[in-house]
Amino acid sequence: MKSEKKNKRQCIICGELKEKNELIRITQDYKSKEAKLNTDNKIQGRSVYICKENNCIEKALKINEKKAVKKVKIGENIKEALYNLLQK
Ligand SMILES: [Zn+2]
Repeated sequence: MKSEKKNKRQCIICGELKEKNELIRITQDYKSKEAKLNTDNKIQGRSVYICKENNCIEKALKINEKKAVKKVKIGENIKEALYNLLQK
């Protein structure tokens, strides 16, 4: 169904389509151009998504921060926040 697909987002690491609540949203603020973890969905801008699973988070931590993923930079601040989301 079309409507079903519309509400899902794709993880940039594993490529799976998931519900938004199963994903971590990283948004690049359209004003400051700084990417942040968008936990309360208050930031407007280009977003990428990562599964809330250790597997995908760990791979995201290894992303070269000089390379933007879909024009969103996964910088030190993002990695720190992601690291804190790892379930130990
Ligand atoms: Zn994933």
